[in-house]
Amino acid sequence: MTARHVATPAAGSRRRGVAVPLPRDWSELAARDVWLVVAGVGVVIAAMWVRHGGPARDPLTAIGEVTALGGTYAALLGVLFASRAPWLDQVMGTDRLREIHRWLGFVSVWAIVAHSIISTLAYAGGSLGQTLPMAVTLVQTVPGMLGAVVGTGLFLLVAVSSVRAARRRLPYETWHGLHLYAYLAIAFAFLHQLTIGNDFIGDRLAVAFWIALYVVAFAPLVVYRVAWPVYLTWRHRPRLRAVVSEADGIVSLYVEGRDLDRLAARSGQFFVVRALTLREWNHGHPFSLSATPNGDYLRFTVKLFGEGTRALAALPPGTPLLLEGPYGAMHGARRTGRRLLLVAGGIGIAPIRSLAEGFAFRPGDMDLVYRTRGVRETALQRELDALAAYRGINLHYVTGQRGEPRVGEDPLGPDALRRLVPDAADRDIYLCGPNALMERARSALLALGADPHRINLELFG
Ligand SMILES: Cc1cc2nc3c(=O)[nH]c(=O)nc-3n(C[C@H](O)[C@H](O)[C@H](O)COP(=O)(O)OP(=O)(O)OC[C@H]3O[C@@H](n4cnc5c(N)ncnc54)[C@H](O)[C@@H]3O)c2cc1C
Repeated sequence: MTARHVATPAAGSRRRGVAVPLPRDWSELAARDVWLVVAGVGVVIAAMWVRHGGPARDPLTAIGEVTALGGTYAALLGVLFASRAPWLDQVMGTDRLREIHRWLGFVSVWAIVAHSIISTLAYAGGSLGQTLPMAVTLVQTVPGMLGAVVGTGLFLLVAVSSVRAARRRLPYETWHGLHLYAYLAIAFAFLHQLTIGNDFIGDRLAVAFWIALYVVAFAPLVVYRVAWPVYLTWRHRPRLRAVVSEADGIVSLYVEGRDLDRLAARSGQFFVVRALTLREWNHGHPFSLSATPNGDYLRFTVKLFGEGTRALAALPPGTPLLLEGPYGAMHGARRTGRRLLLVAGGIGIAPIRSLAEGFAFRPGDMDLVYRTRGVRETALQRELDALAAYRGINLHYVTGQRGEPRVGEDPLGPDALRRLVPDAADRDIYLCGPNALMERARSALLALGADPHRINLELFG
């Protein structure tokens, strides 16, 4: 198949008088609203603890209870923030959700470990020497306690495997597989709370409240990470149409399906793509749309990074796929002004290319900066050139190794960006690419005076 996507305007298809759907952007909600609800629920949990006589207990027992409640609440929030619920994704942003989920994970694990130690010490009357024998007695005599110990162990395993140094060494599948044990750990925590938790014993309202918290945390996870992808796949039957080479180690995956004109997605968004084959079904890959959805196909442009992406590129046409999404808040609905600056690093060009195609703008009102280490890694160049000529985009290739005279020491630093786009700070800005490079570009733009609210960022992890 030849690349036949060059600068074609989106099909803008209409059927039975119904416009092509777009995902809701939830702009009526702000992150502050989410945090207010989180804080409100925290206050209710604290109030229930006070009502149940928490502050009147001896200090060790009280601290043990507070760490248990705080740890459980953090774990449930962690589940909710990993649910990929569209409203959370749009309001908080995918990157921020990932970072918050990570921190909530660590907070919950350390709080639950602290709870286990401090509460056992409290049962042992504050005697360090009696703590271990007391732990054994509790496991033997209290229903649900063995599960709690196993749950805490699982939490620890997940936390240790998520420390950056460990994560870098583990294959993604192994890390992700271990990560799923956190759900089992939460189930054990729930049983433990049912049998021994002060907020459960004898207070029906508190029981109902906590059960509601578990439901609110887990229901979106089941809906959006299981039911929705299954529905989407059943509805649109996505399958691989073709794999097209774009540059050294970079290919485009063309995905066809049924009624793709009814699939609500925006330029700049991403899907988690999974090949439904025996070997690949358990590894989903987040890939951004590299062309505006046009009703005929979806296109993802992919750097062959590890085994998973290489396996995808070798799949035969017709392979069925499972799609999860669309996700990501780096899209046109975040635009606030007329002039635009798009900055891509490496394979970050994928969503930037679809944004450049999808935006409405006057010739000259968009600058696109594309940073790569070499010409051979510069993907989609021909179609970018065509798009720039056709739509009037000021296209800047920043190609070469750092330190080379034509790119300088800091190719996306404040001086370099100001030289390329003198009014960079006064535009809506869209950044995408590897974390370190994009963080540097973001800092440079802030140093130039850009409004942080007008900087839209997607990191590729
Ligand atoms: C929001 C987002 C959008 C992305 N869009 C693109 C794109 O358009 N084109 C492109 O080439 N790459 C994109 N990536 C990166 C891409 O997902 C990974 O490079 C790819 O999944 C690597 O898989 P692998 O099996 O080849 O390598 P592996 O060796 O299995 O993984 C290498 C690294 O890729 C990351 N990764 C792998 N799977 C996942 C996953 N399911 N979720 C999050 N991170 C994962 C992890 O950091 C992992 O350590 C995107 C990443 C994110 C987070």
